[in-house]
Amino acid sequence: MSCLFCKIIAGEVPAAKVYEDDQLIAFNDINPQAPMHLLVVPKRHVATLNDLSAADDGLVGAMVRRAAAIAKEKGHDGPGYRTVFNCNAQAGQTVFHIHLHVLGGRTMTWPPG
Ligand code: AMP
Ligand code: ZN
Repeated sequence: MSCLFCKIIAGEVPAAKVYEDDQLIAFNDINPQAPMHLLVVPKRHVATLNDLSAADDGLVGAMVRRAAAIAKEKGHDGPGYRTVFNCNAQAGQTVFHIHLHVLGGRTMTWPPG
């Protein structure tokens, strides 16, 4: 298995987990870009957003709702937070196992870099 996030899910690479259930895991980003920066990751390997199908609608919904729940737990629901999916190279995707970035704790700028 060559996928870094599959290795984290399998427990072969350590991560600072903040949430886990049967279909999702969330852990702190190793190179945080904000006071809160975590990744919500499906346990099933899906390389990019381009590889999702209608059968994955529930999974993606669970990812987004989990991001909102964790942000709320950490007190970022009121001030606000940002969620980001990067898809493929031009968007800056570096790990080819889909993940939802959840960033908060500072003012964000727009447009993103
Ligand atoms: P992306 O560039 O959208 O593919 O995001 C990949 C993210 O994974 C980056 O923000 C990295 O900092 C993060 N990352 C890489 N390796 C690890 C790791 N071992 N544990 C936690 N986060 C990681
Ligand atoms: Zn994977």
